[in-house]
Amino acid sequence: MKDKSILITGGAGFIGSNFIEHFLGKYQNTKIVNIDKLTYAGELSNLKQIANNENYEFIKGDICDVQLLEGLFKKYNFSGVIHFAAESHVDNSIKNPDAFINTNVYGTYNLLNIAKNHWMLEPFLFKEGCENNRFHHISTDEVYGTLGEEGLFTEKTPYAPNSPYSASKASSDFIVRSYYHTYGINAITTNCSNNYGPKQHDEKLIPTIIKKALEGKNIPIYGNGRNIRDWIYVEDHCKGIDLAFCKGKAGETYNIGGKNERDNLYIAHKICEILDEIRPKKEKYSKQIKFVKDRPGHDFRYAIDASKIENDLGWKAIENFESGILKTIKWYLTKYEK
Ligand code: NAD
Repeated sequence: MKDKSILITGGAGFIGSNFIEHFLGKYQNTKIVNIDKLTYAGELSNLKQIANNENYEFIKGDICDVQLLEGLFKKYNFSGVIHFAAESHVDNSIKNPDAFINTNVYGTYNLLNIAKNHWMLEPFLFKEGCENNRFHHISTDEVYGTLGEEGLFTEKTPYAPNSPYSASKASSDFIVRSYYHTYGINAITTNCSNNYGPKQHDEKLIPTIIKKALEGKNIPIYGNGRNIRDWIYVEDHCKGIDLAFCKGKAGETYNIGGKNERDNLYIAHKICEILDEIRPKKEKYSKQIKFVKDRPGHDFRYAIDASKIENDLGWKAIENFESGILKTIKWYLTKYEK
């Protein structure tokens, strides 16, 4: 029997699967139970390296399923939850917001409520042995809305979500906040900027650019390509989550960002440039870049001030965009060239 069990939600997705690998590699005395609905975005193959690890168990299920979650809490007596599961693609939230409200809002509430009932006798009174149990909510910088040319998002920036995706994440952040203030549950939230790296779904910007480039197809770039995101290599995010989960202060939120602001056009050109070198062909890959109609409500710029997690918990991003993107491209080459 392991010292403790923690519940990971959405661990078959991009960040969750990278996190599980990181966590199992680092901690030998914790069992991880991963619940994932395996939507179109969940891939069991993301977890093939650890599928047989004795500290790991997979459950196919929905975080909106009350009975299933109650049963899991009873069976495993989780001392922690790290909640990744979400509908995560802004474009899909514009076409079909329903699933975003269900999973991101109701699902988060459901999970939190079951954890609270399992860990607490009444507001601010934990059951014996549950005093240090923690709920860690994984969220996004998109809850802050958009920035102009200047400024950074801090933990004090007012929420101003602009897409159904970011609005559903903002709602879930507020529910977590309310459970800390009303019931005293030991909850923290991390809000991270745009991640990239191995195992991201093909629909997202960077895998799309690499895939289309290799296929010789048009590389679609929204609007004029000048939208800026603060890119973070997924492993750096995972290390930040680990630190915040283990050492963060209850009730706090921590922004995590790579200090690597790049616009979409730069990203497309950088990837093309690297492919020109490592997979040369007659024509430059950048010839395939084509501008397409902008996404409605497309936020102009996101950028994170990560000084709180850096100063309070000693976190720092290791990769810059140029080092991380090279590793990322190499990983996708093995996937797409199979
Ligand atoms: P993803 O879409 O790759 O993975 C989401 C996972 O959740 C999938 O495996 C999916 O099957 C699962 N899932 C969806 N609905 C579910 C449900 N109802 N019950 C159980 N499982 C369900 O997403 P990701 O990029 O890995 O993002 C993970 C988390 O991090 C999300 O909460 C997202 O909002 C947040 N986040 C992502 C980024 C980013 O750049 N990708 C940045 C900041 C924050």
